[in-house]
Amino acid sequence: MVIPPTHPRYRSLLEREKVVEGVREGYVALQGLIAHGRGECFDYLIGEATQPFAERAIEAAAAALLTARHPVISVNGNVAALAPGDVVALAKAVPALLEVNLFYRTREREEKIAEVLRRHGAEEVLGVGEDAACTIPELFSERRRVSCRGIYVADVVLVPLEDGDRTEALRRLGKTVIAIDLNPLSRTAQAASITIVDNVTRAMPKLVEAVTRLKSWDRKRLLGLLRSYDKGATLAEAVSHIAKRLTEIAASLPRRGGVVV
Ligand code: ATP
Ligand code: MG
Repeated sequence: MVIPPTHPRYRSLLEREKVVEGVREGYVALQGLIAHGRGECFDYLIGEATQPFAERAIEAAAAALLTARHPVISVNGNVAALAPGDVVALAKAVPALLEVNLFYRTREREEKIAEVLRRHGAEEVLGVGEDAACTIPELFSERRRVSCRGIYVADVVLVPLEDGDRTEALRRLGKTVIAIDLNPLSRTAQAASITIVDNVTRAMPKLVEAVTRLKSWDRKRLLGLLRSYDKGATLAEAVSHIAKRLTEIAASLPRRGGVVV
């Protein structure tokens, strides 16, 4: 499909095509399309731009990754379709391990996602096949499985686009969970330790930038930055931003005198 770059929704349409392509290539589950549509809706509401509350969460996330003992970046089909290069760049910049972590696990999808990451420069990808031999308690069936060298032993896990149940389960295991989620009301956004309310396609490159910038900071300064981050306040700001924006848009809509066909 050819989308003219002048189209007002060019970027959004291009991203939608990438997820559809991931379905065609067999590594994005059909449910991934629904998740993407929900993300698009919230992106519309926040104004399709990285807002100050997201910038602050990105800085906190960078500090958490840089002070982690064992940081892991969890990758699912949508993330592999939308931001494979940035995910690999982030893993190298921290450095952190990459792990395939799927809601609907199949061997074929795991391998295809690992292949996409390798094509973008990843050296090692955990969580494929027998490597996902450890289990996260309190989750059902295939969703429990993680790498014993990765998420299972991680102290900090970045989960761009995660499900609420899994985020809660990881938190109960005492892990610091960083989520990227456009919906500030989702259970993932509420349950994560640090929530970046932004599109993964905008947040990921910014996170790579932040890690690169903060890398020269000493541990004490990074921990100070981390402590100053208030997740509840940041989420409240995201919700207020949407409410304020909608109120302003409603006020600016034409009333009587508009053409009624
Ligand atoms: P939860 O399980 O956390 O309550 P949910 O069931 O509504 O949320 P899921 O399908 O489990 O949603 O996860 C998808 C989440 O990812 C949604 O909250 C959606 O807003 C978000 N999302 C989808 N696409 C993007 C994107 N490109 N960038 C950031 N977030 C996204
Ligand atoms: Mg869910």
